[in-house]
Amino acid sequence: MNEAVRLNRNVQIGYSACPHDCPSTCALEVEVLDDRTIGRVRGAEDNDYTAGVICAKVARYAERIHHPGRVLQPLRRVGPKGSGSFEPLSWDDALDLVAEKFLAAEWRHGAEAVWPYFYAGTMGLVQRDGINRLRHAKKYSGFHSTICVNASYTGFAAGTGRVAGSDPREMAKSDLIVIWGTNPVNTQVNVMTHATRARKERGAKIVAVDVYINGTMEQADLPVMVKPGTDGALACGVMHCLFRDGKADWDYLNKYTDCPRELEAHVRPRGPDWASEITGCPVETIEEFARLVGSTKRAFFRLGYGFARSRNGPVNMHAATCIPAVTGAWLHEGGGAFHNNADIYRWDKSMIEGLDLRDKSIRMLDQSRAGAILCGDRDALKDGPPVTAMLIQNTNPVSVCPDQEVVKRGFAREDLFVCVHEQFMTETAKMADVVLPATMFMEHDDVYQGGGHQYILLGPKLIEPPGECRSNHAVICGLARRVGAEHPGFAMTERELIDWSLQKSGRGTLERLEREKWLDCQPDFETAHYINGFAYPDGKFRFKPDWPNVPFRMAYHTGPIASIPALPDHWTIIEEADTEHPFRLATSPSRGFLNSTFNETISSRAQNRGRPDVMIHPEDAGAFGIIDGAEVVIGNRRGQVRIHARLFDGVRRGVLIAESIWPNDAYPDGKGINTVTGADAIAPYGGAAFHDNKVWIRPA
Ligand code: SF4
Repeated sequence: MNEAVRLNRNVQIGYSACPHDCPSTCALEVEVLDDRTIGRVRGAEDNDYTAGVICAKVARYAERIHHPGRVLQPLRRVGPKGSGSFEPLSWDDALDLVAEKFLAAEWRHGAEAVWPYFYAGTMGLVQRDGINRLRHAKKYSGFHSTICVNASYTGFAAGTGRVAGSDPREMAKSDLIVIWGTNPVNTQVNVMTHATRARKERGAKIVAVDVYINGTMEQADLPVMVKPGTDGALACGVMHCLFRDGKADWDYLNKYTDCPRELEAHVRPRGPDWASEITGCPVETIEEFARLVGSTKRAFFRLGYGFARSRNGPVNMHAATCIPAVTGAWLHEGGGAFHNNADIYRWDKSMIEGLDLRDKSIRMLDQSRAGAILCGDRDALKDGPPVTAMLIQNTNPVSVCPDQEVVKRGFAREDLFVCVHEQFMTETAKMADVVLPATMFMEHDDVYQGGGHQYILLGPKLIEPPGECRSNHAVICGLARRVGAEHPGFAMTERELIDWSLQKSGRGTLERLEREKWLDCQPDFETAHYINGFAYPDGKFRFKPDWPNVPFRMAYHTGPIASIPALPDHWTIIEEADTEHPFRLATSPSRGFLNSTFNETISSRAQNRGRPDVMIHPEDAGAFGIIDGAEVVIGNRRGQVRIHARLFDGVRRGVLIAESIWPNDAYPDGKGINTVTGADAIAPYGGAAFHDNKVWIRPA
């Protein structure tokens, strides 16, 4: 269950924000038992998006923050790479050593030989993004962050022109909520809070679209189960029905969209039979989905990341956004579409990131292709020097990156120096030369923005860190001094950076944010619903996007752009099953973990049934001689993974689901699930196709 926890009001209550890589960015209330200890954590009731509810894993955060396995002092490797043999050293000696190695790499190959590597282990703007200030000041290689949002943001902005949509709280005023490609019962739990409120108070219906019967699908009035990577076909089938049945709003189409007659003709041959053949979803279900959408003006499309993590992901996302443009649902409160509010905040991050020093001629290296980059692939390195030194914060690439065998080979290079600043001895930390102990969010100051809502929230320091843990900001500033990086941001405290950024962004001051705890940045109805036109110069929603020029903050082209279909479609670029690989595997998020975060806690492991498993339809299992609970091997040209089978009739035949991400050492061979996922880039701006893998399976 997700948690509505009761706090002991006799102890001090601290306010915070969940820093983890989850769009809900929940407003938190924390029992502060003393200056080093927290008690229970609950969702803030007076925040109208969080509404008092958070996920179970954060409600029991004391287990994680006070975990005996935390890294508490700087460590230097003394054994072979990956052996886990380290000895302690002082902070000064550790930072001196890292600086010496970075300067040596720079002297030998140029500054681009150093690659600062980070991601969203914390979503705090200061602690996550400050590493860019070091990068810009020193002209180190750039970080093209592709692993999470590029495919979905690009697909959403392809139609609307920007990543923002209807107020997510409007779900509670909807008559139909379509939860597509996300499982909010496992992640971003607040979506369910608002959707079920609409059901309770207004009799709203919930449709869920996903690749297996997960917790959200179980709660839906109409679960629509498709094969991975076929959502574009489903969307076309639905739009076919809408045009066929006179449910298209032609006044809206003519006023607000680019080529409605062309779209109508395009989806005419793409009816429910055609869509059923591709998606595996029965014709009657597609017809019923279309009937609900066509008969409900207040239809809210809550679009997730999952269905975009496919080689055709941006096209799938764009196809789904086209449906409310056909019905004109955008005109109505409780209608339209929402994916993320990334484009509403308009931060001035120049002090945090040192953007005034940015040199656009410096190469950008693709986060998701870390394996190829570290193994010296010329294309991945953009024909530049090898990467010979790294600083890694807030991410665990040896577990979470695709094509894991190649990633491991890259990190095993003897001529590569790696410093990992971490909270736990992760798979990546074990491969490091220097490990630095990192604070958790309640142990430092930071500011957050909601992706799944519209609040800026403060996450102040509530307790002292254990051992010798230091914040990311402290490490970046300490290193900057030693490598000769200069920028005023290195001389500022976290609180000064927050205050400066708020003021420059027109969001008040730190003092105001401390007083109010969060700032509601929701654009007005007209803006959020594109009533005055979509975010393109002509104000038209694009059924036919200019894919190479879709507005996106990191518009670095990659992948097979030329083959993107002009109009919404089933883009057949996915890894289709074949004779040798009869299954398609998706690595969907588990309930107890958040990527690889939380996979160190006993309760999260127990919540995920204690060991990694792969769901397989009982008839497929029978055909391959696999019994429930047996060890099996799944594989493809990228590698093999030993895992236990779980027979489950809530997956389509020919589909496997491995909820993730378990630690690599939880698998009998030490090979994690990303051994079989691919790192080839998604067009047009990159991404990792975690749910788009053809594999074989056999008993172990
Ligand atoms: S639902 Fe997401 S944002 Fe909210 S507490 Fe859980 S992990 Fe954090």
